[in-house]
Amino acid sequence: MDFAFDARTEQLRASLLDFMDTHVYPAEPVFREQLSQLDNRWAWDSVPIMSELRAEARKRGLWNLFLPGAEGAGLTNLQYAPLAEITGRSGHLAPATLNCAAPDTGNMEVLAQFGTEAQRKEWLEPLLEGQIRSAFAMTEPDVASSDATNIGTRIERDGDDYVLNGRKWWITGAMNPNAQIFVVMGKTDPSASRHRQQSMILVPRDTPGVEIIRGMEVFGYDDHDHGGHAELSFTDVRVPAANLIGGEGDGFAIAQARLGPGRIHHCMRAIGVAERAIEAMCARADERVAFGKPLSEQGVIRDWIAESRVKLEQLRLLVLKTAWLMDTVGNKGAHTEIQAIKIATPATVQWILDKAIQVHGAAGLSQDFSLAASYAGNRTLRFADGPDEVHKNALAKNELRKQREAR
Ligand SMILES: Cc1cc2nc3c(=O)[nH]c(=O)nc-3n(C[C@H](O)[C@H](O)[C@H](O)COP(=O)(O)OP(=O)(O)OC[C@H]3O[C@@H](n4cnc5c(N)ncnc54)[C@H](O)[C@@H]3O)c2cc1C
Repeated sequence: MDFAFDARTEQLRASLLDFMDTHVYPAEPVFREQLSQLDNRWAWDSVPIMSELRAEARKRGLWNLFLPGAEGAGLTNLQYAPLAEITGRSGHLAPATLNCAAPDTGNMEVLAQFGTEAQRKEWLEPLLEGQIRSAFAMTEPDVASSDATNIGTRIERDGDDYVLNGRKWWITGAMNPNAQIFVVMGKTDPSASRHRQQSMILVPRDTPGVEIIRGMEVFGYDDHDHGGHAELSFTDVRVPAANLIGGEGDGFAIAQARLGPGRIHHCMRAIGVAERAIEAMCARADERVAFGKPLSEQGVIRDWIAESRVKLEQLRLLVLKTAWLMDTVGNKGAHTEIQAIKIATPATVQWILDKAIQVHGAAGLSQDFSLAASYAGNRTLRFADGPDEVHKNALAKNELRKQREAR
């Protein structure tokens, strides 16, 4: 088994690490300052430094790295994994800078895989160019949305159009005015079988009847890295029938196809968050003296540092194995491992962030360090793309079945 990265990955890693050091980390305080000066705190794409970073990333060939086909950089999941990890170290800036931020990545994958030529021309091309952003609207306040078959938004055929009525929330990126296209999931046929009732349809942001109600906060944070999560409503929203993605009833299957890569990307980036937290934890432990010696000489702190390193290495290996499986046996064949990393990663990274915060004392909770914001952002991953319990339930069901068959 060869654990080394191949030559292309190493070359991209070197280029990305240099870009992070010379451009992204220095831009972090500038981004915060420029954002605070905007009238619209969600107009994240209007922050001047963001355009500069994007132009530089593109010049360096660090663009659309997530997309495997010819439309993207053509990397495998195994090649992309260590790069996504590096971008996770500056999660507010780096993924978007490289045009590799959720939910655009998943939406681009859906359009690349299931979109018609006209849909790809109108929406995929500007997304690939980084000219516009997008949102994926499934979750609803009125139903338990971890069960996607509950989704109640109606998408009804009327002549050459579809008409949408419903309410959504936690729609990532939708507060950003540059998120010009929404991929909306709803029901076209409530009488069809459970997994054939849903469809997906493209709804341009400026369509009459689309209302952006409010931005959702996470533990009081704007959670700006994507341009904010929105509550939205659709009232008699009329779009051409040609905006349907795939056929009527394909929505559930498309949602499933979208979630595999989305989940592993979250996990890869979260590992980068944890790496940066371990660095901060060690630096703080070395420089802070309590009761006559540096914190780094206290056994309990060393225990946290050692445990953090061991847990993270285990996690990274499982994520890389999952990436390799996705490349070799496909997303379906890697289903159990995708569930496993989605369960393990946010919880482990949360544990590491908690210890890094503790080592920092009260400062760890403050705005002076990125740990508290990272903690809030990472905590959301135990819901986003499905709560832990849903993944555990499905994984256990599968394990029980295999064990029964083996018996
Ligand atoms: C930061 C953030 C960003 C998000 N971005 C998006 C987005 O862009 N687009 C979008 O559509 N949605 C988005 N979501 C929503 C997210 O996908 C949902 O919150 C998630 O699917 C859970 O749905 P729910 O909140 O309705 O929880 P519910 O379905 O009400 O579930 C509540 C709880 O019930 C328990 N539960 C549910 N099912 C089971 C089970 N089978 N076994 C045991 N326990 C169970 C779990 O503990 C679960 O947390 C985002 C959420 C967050 C926090």
